[in-house]
Amino acid sequence: MFERSTRRSWLTGGCLLLATTVLAPALPLPAGQARAAAVSEQSFASWRDGFRAEALLNGIDAGLFDRLFRGMQPDQAVIDADSSQPEFTRPIWEYLDSAASPARVSYGRQMLAAQQRTLDGIEQRYGVPRQILVAIWGMESNFGRNIGSKDVIRSLATLAWHGRRADFARTQLLAALQILQQGHYRGGMMPGSWAGAMGQTQFIPTTFLDFAVDFDGDGRKDLWQSSSDALASAANYLSRSNWQSGQHWGFEVRLPAGFDYALADPAVRRSIAQWQQLGVMPQAAIGAGESTQSATLLLPAGHRGPAFLVLSNFRSLLRYNNSTAYALGVGLLADRLAGAAALQASWPRDEKPLSRSQRVELQQRLAAAGFNPGVADGIIGANTRAAVRASQQRLGWPADGEPTLRLLEALRRQH
Ligand code: CA
Repeated sequence: MFERSTRRSWLTGGCLLLATTVLAPALPLPAGQARAAAVSEQSFASWRDGFRAEALLNGIDAGLFDRLFRGMQPDQAVIDADSSQPEFTRPIWEYLDSAASPARVSYGRQMLAAQQRTLDGIEQRYGVPRQILVAIWGMESNFGRNIGSKDVIRSLATLAWHGRRADFARTQLLAALQILQQGHYRGGMMPGSWAGAMGQTQFIPTTFLDFAVDFDGDGRKDLWQSSSDALASAANYLSRSNWQSGQHWGFEVRLPAGFDYALADPAVRRSIAQWQQLGVMPQAAIGAGESTQSATLLLPAGHRGPAFLVLSNFRSLLRYNNSTAYALGVGLLADRLAGAAALQASWPRDEKPLSRSQRVELQQRLAAAGFNPGVADGIIGANTRAAVRASQQRLGWPADGEPTLRLLEALRRQH
């Protein structure tokens, strides 16, 4: 539903995975599936022996490899989590309610105070506001209190042997071995999510190798134990994802009566000033330099819910985790940490999200009605949204592209 799939969103565990799966289902990877099917015929031991040779060729020490893999069995719980395709989805407002819950806002403000000196230094070096970093920290690991307890090497080995994206997991596994070999983690089993996301920022291993930093200067990039390293690593990631210092991520707006909801499309970009000329009213103070910034209009729950203009920094948050719900959760939590009030508009809490099978049926019915929603896979991507808009326009409804039960019922009545 929400843009492209990234490496990271698939590999994020826990509650975030639920939201990502629900709101931005990862795109299927046929090549990976084909490979997984072939690999599944192979025993874990024979897979491990083949992988050992590759790991050694990649510079992994044989003693380290053998110590980690001695007696290892694949983890069925990881296979189950990887293959789960939830039928029922959680509405975005429930996700956002918990993302910026009063308890999280309150604890996050305590953390802003407790980490003040560290955050001063990080903000100065990377130009990313502290509230954004603390919001990410809260979303990813509940401020370092929940970093996952799965054995990352075993989980990734299981996925590399038998996962939906075996090749991808294999790359992550090699990176995880490099992290251990470099000495960043000290202790026994290196912990993380079932999908290999590690530490207080829940970085997958390749992200760790590319973006983790040693901010406290002890020589190790310790995202598990060092909050300074974790917060600075998140800042480094965003900074290198084109974060624009001094700009909003986005803000709530009010739309005028009779507004053309078809403009709420990621492909439609206008400057903030142009949106204002269309009657879009920001519910936040816009800086003098900001009105020329390019923005897109986001209606996360369709025309009945809140509307946002999102700027370039929103795309940086999506690079961190490619889920609109996630990026919105970070932005709104950061705003609350900075003292902003809750949203002005209310969510359409009476709407029930379509189940997976209803989404498939909607896609089938859109295709039968002559629209082009793409493959009927239950994933609401750009094609399905465009088909939903076109069908709404034919019905004379607000063309917000939102797949609703009301639309499904209307299509059922037509055939
Ligand atoms: Ca360190």
